[in-house]
Amino acid sequence: MENVIIVRFGEINLKGKNKRFFEGKLIKHIRFQLKEFIDTEIYQEYSRLYIRSRKEDQGKIIEKVRKVFGIVSLSTAVSIPSDIDAIRKASFELMKERFDKEAFKTFRVTTKRANKKFPIPSMEVSSDVGGFVLKSFNGELSVDVHQPDVTLIVEIRQKTYITCDHFPAYGGLPLETNGSALLLLSGGIDSPVAGWMMGKRGVKVHAVHFHSYPFTSERAQEKILDLARELQNYIGEFMIFNVNLLKIQKAINEECPDEEMTIHSRRFMTRIAEKIAKRYELQALITGDNIGQVASQTMESLQVVSEVASIPIFRPLIAYDKQDIIKVAKEINTYEISIQPFEDCCSVFLPKKPLTRPRLNNIVESEQHLDVEGLVTEAIEDMEIMKLTFNQE
Ligand code: ATP
Ligand code: MG
Repeated sequence: MENVIIVRFGEINLKGKNKRFFEGKLIKHIRFQLKEFIDTEIYQEYSRLYIRSRKEDQGKIIEKVRKVFGIVSLSTAVSIPSDIDAIRKASFELMKERFDKEAFKTFRVTTKRANKKFPIPSMEVSSDVGGFVLKSFNGELSVDVHQPDVTLIVEIRQKTYITCDHFPAYGGLPLETNGSALLLLSGGIDSPVAGWMMGKRGVKVHAVHFHSYPFTSERAQEKILDLARELQNYIGEFMIFNVNLLKIQKAINEECPDEEMTIHSRRFMTRIAEKIAKRYELQALITGDNIGQVASQTMESLQVVSEVASIPIFRPLIAYDKQDIIKVAKEINTYEISIQPFEDCCSVFLPKKPLTRPRLNNIVESEQHLDVEGLVTEAIEDMEIMKLTFNQE
């Protein structure tokens, strides 16, 4: 008998000729999450992956591997020879172990017989094993085929796998299977979620953060690193480009109407982000914009900002309600960090009444008072580049 973790993936199975490529990336990322565990091995049988490991590590391994995009769900299982006596015995042991952890009342057995050489049909295996478990528990359990507390799954393949748990994962596609992009990462709730969502679709994400040091504090900077550390549990190692926007903000403040402040800042951020993206061969930008949320996120504002970029800007949260964004932020552990009250660079020169419907020609006209190219170039020359690596716990 061997302890394994079953790794199920969904969308990858639809990939036809490219399936190998997706599986290869998936295995690479799983392996990375397993590096601290000794005695583990990944093996593949048909369109399934299995992780062989020490039983005592299984809980921790699931917690880590659950964060690998492309995986739909995981189960701990025992693998035994495909033999009815062995199946009965292992089924009872597994149920007993589960029962000792948390007493439950009802169960059912579901059998999937992929190996048609196995002589007993699925239904019969289920009732045989169910009967055996029932008898062995001496009346402590009963069968409920409709809404059982626990479902015991018997999968008869070359070997037989038996499991009675199920841990959902995030689905999506493995990282590095869908190009790369640069996330505009603020300290807010939305942008970490936006980066996570693109990562979930297989995009390799790096980040740029704009600050106004010394107007914004060192602690505000720390906050970005804290967010990045949470994100890297999912999206792996990435670069953070730290750009000081203060000089640009001062110039806008001096030369342009007060209510245009935010829109000009956003245009500069976008231009700078695009330059960085091109320099590092990243193919798109990602923001946490959400239609209608604030003045800078009206249809007109988004249009006036997008206009300065020639690469695509992805806004995965555009149609989300705030509550739904918060739900994801909590799930990925960024929420508590995001709500810490540190000033953002945009709050430094916040206009009293920001424009909600900027007009492109007015904005372009105000910009003529600024040395756009020079300011952008200088900001990039002065930026600080950090590479976040996995050296924490
Ligand atoms: P968030 O929660 O992401 O801060 P928000 O609701 O506060 O979003 P805005 O402040 O209008 O929205 O910012 C919209 C988007 O612009 C952000 O999601 C982010 O992608 C980008 N952005 C804003 N400020 C910064 C910054 N200081 N550095 C990098 N990107 C930023
Ligand atoms: Mg913000």
